[in-house]
Amino acid sequence: MWKPLFVKGPLQSAAFSYGHELVVRREPVSKLLLVEDNEMNRDMLSRRLQRRGYEVIIAVDGDEGVKIAQSEAPDLILMDMSLPVLDGWEATRRLKAAPKTQSIPILGLTAHAMSGDREKAIEAGCDDYDTKPIEFSRLLEKINALLGKEVTP
Ligand code: MN
Repeated sequence: MWKPLFVKGPLQSAAFSYGHELVVRREPVSKLLLVEDNEMNRDMLSRRLQRRGYEVIIAVDGDEGVKIAQSEAPDLILMDMSLPVLDGWEATRRLKAAPKTQSIPILGLTAHAMSGDREKAIEAGCDDYDTKPIEFSRLLEKINALLGKEVTP
């Protein structure tokens, strides 16, 4: 007699207990770097992404974002463009100029749908772009498209 035990969470793992034997299936987890200076936005977005199974690491300004991208090698970077110390535009340019980080997809985020912002973001090196307030399902689609994953409805 066995009883299935489902473990949900950031590791997306499912564990099945057969008596004393424990079998764990683990899907690869995408690591996202969220560079956002606004604490409320940061907490809300990181929690929602974690609930969807992503590992989320945080940077609070552009300079920290560049450094953490270099040391942590995330699968994707969510980059707020309006940041202290080093803004998202310059941080993106630096990340895309460095061999170690240039292949990491960057999704740029701005607070207002300013005309020309999309072009400016792509020019700075962003692979895609979205505007705040975040529409979460749309953001997830963009993240998954950049990660080359199927979208789970
Ligand atoms: Mn900001």
